[in-house]
Amino acid sequence: MTSEVLGLIQLGTRLDFLLDKLTKPISAKFPDLDIGISDPLGDPTEAYDSRRDQFHSTRILALLEDHIRSVRFDRLLGVASFDLYVPGMNFVFGEARLPGRVGVISTHRLLPRQPDQTSLLQDRVVKEAVHEIGHMKGLKHCERVSCVMHFSESLADTDIKSPNLCQECELQLKVSA
Ligand SMILES: [Zn+2]
Ligand SMILES: [Zn+2]
Repeated sequence: MTSEVLGLIQLGTRLDFLLDKLTKPISAKFPDLDIGISDPLGDPTEAYDSRRDQFHSTRILALLEDHIRSVRFDRLLGVASFDLYVPGMNFVFGEARLPGRVGVISTHRLLPRQPDQTSLLQDRVVKEAVHEIGHMKGLKHCERVSCVMHFSESLADTDIKSPNLCQECELQLKVSA
C-alpha cells in the first residue's frame, strides 16, 4: 500500500481547535495516511453568503481543489470555525468529494455548551474528520448509527456514533484501496 500525505489546513483567520490534535487520531484510523499541517488559508470570501452569514461548503471544496495544486499534499482537509451550509440544508458539519482529494469540516456546531469540555470537542472533531476522509476515500453513508460514516444531521447523531468505521465500511475501504 503506498502511503499518501493528507494535509490539514486551517481556513480563516482563527480556529477553535488545534490541528495538531487531529494527527494521531487520524493516522490511527487510516494507517496508510501520513498527516501534515499545511499553511493556513485565509477567509474563503468567495464562499461567503452574507444573507445566511454562512459559508457554502461546496464552494470551499472547489477552492481547496484549486489550492492543492500549489501544495505538497495528496489530499487536503480544511478545518474552519465558521458555519458551513449547502443549499437546501440549514447547515452541515462538513462536506467532501466522494471520492476525491478534498474535504472540509467546521467546529462551529461542535462546540460544547461548557467551554471546558475540551475532550468532548476533541471527540466530535475527530469523528467529523474521519467521516469526511472516509468520503474522500470513497465511502458512502452507512446506515449503522454507531458507524462513523453514519450521516450526522444533529449533534446527537455525532455524539452517538463511534469514531470508528464499522466492519463493513472497513472492508469496503480495503477493497477500494
Ligand atoms: Zn457524510
Ligand atoms: Zn459503516
